Amino acid sequence: MASSRALYDVIVIGAGIEGSSCAYNLAKEGMKVLLIEQFPLPHIRGSSHGQSRITRYAYSKAFYVRMMVDCFPMWAQLEKESGEDFFT
Ligand SMILES: Cc1cc2nc3c(=O)[nH]c(=O)nc-3n(C[C@H](O)[C@H](O)[C@H](O)COP(=O)(O)OP(=O)(O)OC[C@H]3O[C@@H](n4cnc5c(N)ncnc54)[C@H](O)[C@@H]3O)c2cc1C
Repeated sequence: MASSRALYDVIVIGAGIEGSSCAYNLAKEGMKVLLIEQFPLPHIRGSSHGQSRITRYAYSKAFYVRMMVDCFPMWAQLEKESGEDFFT
């Protein structure tokens, strides 16, 4: 039996926003990715699941503020790729 190492470059556990984003971006880089989720998607049991999010630039840590500067263009790109509007 082939080991999972031979089949995938990366295995991501958990298809919340962190795992999904990680798997999506690794796949875009050409890696073979397996994303494993314990519940059928979509579900409401993870903290990032749901219909709405609050987002802001104001954080006490500079790292988070810099990350937000990167986030908005990335979300705009994802809107383009998915054909969905995220911000209403
Ligand atoms: C009620 C609430 C509201 C929030 N609102 C906001 C907000 O408005 N704005 C904001 O920026 N942040 C918000 N946060 C924080 C934010 O949700 C988290 O910081 C972060 O987004 C969590 O994402 P995640 O992918 O790590 O976790 P999750 O979304 O919890 O995803 C983890 C996934 O892993 C799966 N999983 C876990 N263990 C296993 C396993 N062993 N095998 C397979 N699958 C597994 C789970 O089923 C789940 O789907 C909120 C948090 C909570 C609790």
